[in-house]
Amino acid sequence: MYNLTFHGVGEPPRVLEPGEAHVWLSEQRFLAVLDAVGRRDDVRLSFDDSFRSDVDVALPALLDRGLTATFFVLAGRLDHPEHLGASDLQKLNDSGMTVASHGLHHRNWRNLDEGGLAEELDQARNLLTEATGKRVTQASVPFGAYDRRVLSRLRAAGYDHVYTSDGGQANARQWLQPRTSITVTDSVSAIAKQPASGEAMRIHLKRFVKRWR
Ligand SMILES: [Zn+2]
Repeated sequence: MYNLTFHGVGEPPRVLEPGEAHVWLSEQRFLAVLDAVGRRDDVRLSFDDSFRSDVDVALPALLDRGLTATFFVLAGRLDHPEHLGASDLQKLNDSGMTVASHGLHHRNWRNLDEGGLAEELDQARNLLTEATGKRVTQASVPFGAYDRRVLSRLRAAGYDHVYTSDGGQANARQWLQPRTSITVTDSVSAIAKQPASGEAMRIHLKRFVKRWR
């Protein structure tokens, strides 16, 4: 199985930071990726950072194609004009999409003490559950930054699945789900051929190191 991650799509609301610009796709590129891989049985789609384009651009495109996706929402930005609000989350739910957590303030969880992790893992999930009226059972890790402590805290918080940005193939039964972020430089045909088998060992090693550091 193969988990793909999108971020913002279409016209950005402001000048983007370099890290954001690298993963902010034009609508045309986004639709080309959807059409190339969206219907594959082994591909799962997700969106991070809860930009407004999730509902304005991505949702109609998904519905047109009969596709579903998981939206990892920043609970601390529900009132921010660039981001999804509570009514948007309802709309996603009503459209058959899954609402999940990307934490509260988009911080690096490795740098937080227990108080900070409680905000990111517990308080964020409570806010999203309140906004959607549905249990939130999945989380994605900001910046893909985790270590052994972050993972054990996520396990203790009771998340069913946790999503990273490690890339490569995923196994649907595993708790930790690697994902691949689609960037502005990936060719659509290369994305369609993923996961590339030559990458497997390198990615496996990288994940091993991150889990145990
Ligand atoms: Zn993020």
